[in-house]
Amino acid sequence: MSRVISGHYLDGDSAAVQEAQLLIDSGEELAVLGIAAPFRARLASVRFIAPVGNIPYRVKFENGAVFETRDRAAVSAALRAVGYRESSKIVQWAENHWPVALGSLLVTIILTVGFVQYGIPALADITARNIPKSVDQLLGQQSLELLDDLMFESSNLSAAQQATLIARFRAMTDNIGDGQHYRLQFRYSVLLGPNAVALPSGIIVMTDELVELAEHEDELLAVLAHEVGHVKERHALRQLLRSAGISALALAVLGDASSMASLVGFVPALLEAQHSREFEREADAFAKSWLKSHGIPSSRFDQILCRISHAADVLADEDYSYFSSHPPLAERAQCKP
Ligand SMILES: [Zn+2]
Repeated sequence: MSRVISGHYLDGDSAAVQEAQLLIDSGEELAVLGIAAPFRARLASVRFIAPVGNIPYRVKFENGAVFETRDRAAVSAALRAVGYRESSKIVQWAENHWPVALGSLLVTIILTVGFVQYGIPALADITARNIPKSVDQLLGQQSLELLDDLMFESSNLSAAQQATLIARFRAMTDNIGDGQHYRLQFRYSVLLGPNAVALPSGIIVMTDELVELAEHEDELLAVLAHEVGHVKERHALRQLLRSAGISALALAVLGDASSMASLVGFVPALLEAQHSREFEREADAFAKSWLKSHGIPSSRFDQILCRISHAADVLADEDYSYFSSHPPLAERAQCKP
């Protein structure tokens, strides 16, 4: 059985394009016919270059000459008919050496995971360093407006109570000199309960419930120091950029394969949780060093964390910390049961 495929021949020396036919009549050789000097070549010596998009299928010879055809299916069929596999040599080689193929699959997986784990955070952090602080300001202002709509009500704390904490907070943040405009605000929030939130712009919101839960002012300063740690390291912006990077990568790798969408949606959430653990540890480290340099025992921080954890357990069901992106407070602070 043999097949003749029409196409064009380029001899590799001149720019001339000649009409030609490719004849595949054995599992060993093929022939180029219809040109001034027809010739035969060993199948093993030619390269079959599969087309991408609209580019013609190419058969490349050792001397640089090329036979081109748009009828890829005919070439494939002819090669199949003579029992020859057209896959590229490297793929053939890998197929005959399956441990290598398996190994390269593993390397691909490891590289992808490594890129998500380390590459994206590094790229996001470099990007964050190049984003002016005015962007943080804008993000923070808009986040506060959103939170005010969603979960905050005005504070019921007395003006004197607020003023004392704001003065202590100013003393904490005045000399940081990182270009952030630190401000402390109070809100009442049934939804958040005893909590504090750092917004990218340097706005830290503390809930009335947290102030009421504290048994010592130093406990609140410890929480504020932790939140200042988040702002100083620009965690909100960095998290935003990391999430965007992971989503973009997932889209690039999986395209719009909708059956994978739910799975893909889960992966960024999982990684965000892990990244946010890293940020929590950074913020904790900042808080502990601030406490140490101000002669406040770090146990004040553990005590308030444990009390928040206990309050959260009472408020929410047992699964509260399971899906929470934060490491369980009790685990961070090593609370006594
Ligand atoms: Zn935190």
